[in-house]
Amino acid sequence: EKTPLTLLGLGAMGTALARAWLAAGHPLTVWNRDPARAAALAAEGATVAGSAAEAVAANTLVVVCLLDDASVGEVLAGTGLEGKDVVNLTTSTPAQARTRADRARERGARYLDGGIMAVPPMIGVPDAGGYVFYSGSRELFDRHREALRVPAGTTYVGADAGFAALYDVALLSAMYGMFAGAAHAFALIRKEDIDPGTLAPLLADWLVAMAPSVHQTAGHLRSGDYTEGVVSGLAMQVAGTPTFLLTAEQQGVSTELLSPYFALMRRRLSETGGGEEGLTGVIDLLTN
Ligand code: NDP
Repeated sequence: EKTPLTLLGLGAMGTALARAWLAAGHPLTVWNRDPARAAALAAEGATVAGSAAEAVAANTLVVVCLLDDASVGEVLAGTGLEGKDVVNLTTSTPAQARTRADRARERGARYLDGGIMAVPPMIGVPDAGGYVFYSGSRELFDRHREALRVPAGTTYVGADAGFAALYDVALLSAMYGMFAGAAHAFALIRKEDIDPGTLAPLLADWLVAMAPSVHQTAGHLRSGDYTEGVVSGLAMQVAGTPTFLLTAEQQGVSTELLSPYFALMRRRLSETGGGEEGLTGVIDLLTN
């Protein structure tokens, strides 16, 4: 017996989630503000509800995947949540997720927040690598584990409903740092007769090779000793920054992506004199 569930929101992500649950044989009730998107899923076996309230009333497990937190507030306002297991997969801030959890509990529902680490084509595809961070009600997570596992992998990160959003934003923020670095790298070769296609595989391999440095950073933050295992000290790295800035200048490339990070490295070195440290001290500057 597959758990029947309700899904509110059939955008690109909602539709992918719906198809995954239908394909896995879960009875699914759907609602979308624009009814045309729901009609397409009716042909694939979904039950289409005439209103969000009707959709919520249909099942205990209610998944929400709307544009943003404001749309979640609007849609849930007119529904009866008493006794419901609400799973909110809408991207939000940790504070928004905590407030949603409080409101849901006040209305007699259990609440689980989710941060989707996947794009729609990865949903329902085992081994695509996509997963969802979950936080909030552990009871809800355990009870509906089988259904939650259908669209993507599941990673529970704590009872604090804000943690899924926090982990989600942390990973994506690091990703933007990587995108920024890659943008600068491509800009550096642009005016030369170099095929960007020759740089791409080198760049991808290098970024992968450097990625495990985050484990050393975590070790530093845990022990408080920022020199542990460091081979390229801050003093040496700061001494090297003019090479990067001059090369950018010579290639006619703006340093606006690179400079802020170098400025933090220099400030850490000048404030602490910790030339044997690695780059972990930059985190202290960001959080103080
Ligand atoms: P879409 O823009 O494709 O869909 C938005 C959905 O929200 C539609 O169903 C839309 O309804 C509905 N909606 C918007 N405003 C309101 C409102 N005021 N009242 C009722 N319904 C409303 O977005 P996605 O499906 O791509 O994304 C959904 C969530 O999933 C977002 O929070 C997004 O951040 C998250 N996500 C998306 C990823 C992606 O790659 N797409 C990846 C990871 C997370 P209507 O059809 O009527 O306009």
